[in-house]
Amino acid sequence: MNRRQSRKARQFEESVIRGMTRLCRQYDGVNLSQGFPDFPAPALIKEAAKQAIDAEINQYAITWGTANLRRAIAAKQACFYGWRVDPETEITVTCGATEGMIATLLAVIDPGDEVIIIAPFYENYGPDVILADAVPRYVSLEAPDWRLPEEKLAAAFNERTRAIIINTPHNPTGKVFSREELETIARLCRQWDVLAITDEIYEHILYDGHHHYPLALLDGMAERTVTVNGISKTYSVTGWRIGYCLAPAAITDGIRKVHDFLTVGAPAPLQEGAAVMMGVADEYYKELAAVYAEKRDFLLEVLRAAGFQCTTPAGAYYIMADFSDLSGGDDVSFAKWLVREVGVATVPGSSFFPQRELGHSQVRFCFCKTEATLEQAAARLRRQFGS
Ligand code: GLN
Repeated sequence: MNRRQSRKARQFEESVIRGMTRLCRQYDGVNLSQGFPDFPAPALIKEAAKQAIDAEINQYAITWGTANLRRAIAAKQACFYGWRVDPETEITVTCGATEGMIATLLAVIDPGDEVIIIAPFYENYGPDVILADAVPRYVSLEAPDWRLPEEKLAAAFNERTRAIIINTPHNPTGKVFSREELETIARLCRQWDVLAITDEIYEHILYDGHHHYPLALLDGMAERTVTVNGISKTYSVTGWRIGYCLAPAAITDGIRKVHDFLTVGAPAPLQEGAAVMMGVADEYYKELAAVYAEKRDFLLEVLRAAGFQCTTPAGAYYIMADFSDLSGGDDVSFAKWLVREVGVATVPGSSFFPQRELGHSQVRFCFCKTEATLEQAAARLRRQFGS
């Protein structure tokens, strides 16, 4: 046991996703593991941030976000969803959605409170609940179409439940929660007086006519929802670390306090860049989804031809692929072999599940990459699997 680490720190490991990126560099692989674009960010956002630096916006911003960015976020929510968020009292700008999620949990959870997590789940939520002293209760989506089992979900709620984390569009499955599923979640949250914490970072990456419904807009949910989001995926700037939380004033007050002492604030000039970018026309978002739809179709075809079984994602930019027809090994061995011998990096499926064996025949591929990168991965997979 490593006594130089706290009890909490000893309970979790380094991120598997980020670890795979490092392994990929070591083997000079094609990185389809960590979900970040390898193509240029939009010129508008880069120019606006550069101008902000030149205009000497280089000191701390207001802790909970520059006025320009909070106003831009409010305007964007109003424009897309007719949602009225008060930039003065209901928005906190954070260092990425990652900080938004942990700051929210630290602001609302008391030790021993239960938090419902839908599995598979984005791996950060595991360490998040440990750091927040929460007790996780997992409800599994049912493969292959990742249905939310209503009875099992209802059975997870009890008087100790403080919050439920919902990620839609969903990482890693690409599921987009339907209006009916969100209504069910909302009904249970109202019935048990539970807070919904939604991670909506992929809100604009939707395929085949699927819609995104912010849970906060359903009946009675505005007062009990924290919406966590960020600009990383929408504007292809994952390294900027600009996220935000939308929540009723009383909860926002708690999030702002925690955020203040965790990080003081997100990078000031980059917030100004984000504020300008948020004024971009609708066309940008349509184009983003259309470009990703093509990439999804390309990689799906390559993976299926190679012998992987995949459910078609409805949103986000990942494909969970079952490799049991290709190998009898477990996911970690398969992913390590794939990057070492074939030169394609993925994320082992078990890192998204509470019981690791649930993901042992799956790996996650991301397709937020240039055509050239995807072609290179495809060539390597075709060569290996003879497809
Ligand atoms: N969300 C991305 C993924 O799931 C990136 C994770 C990260 O490293 N922050 O791959």
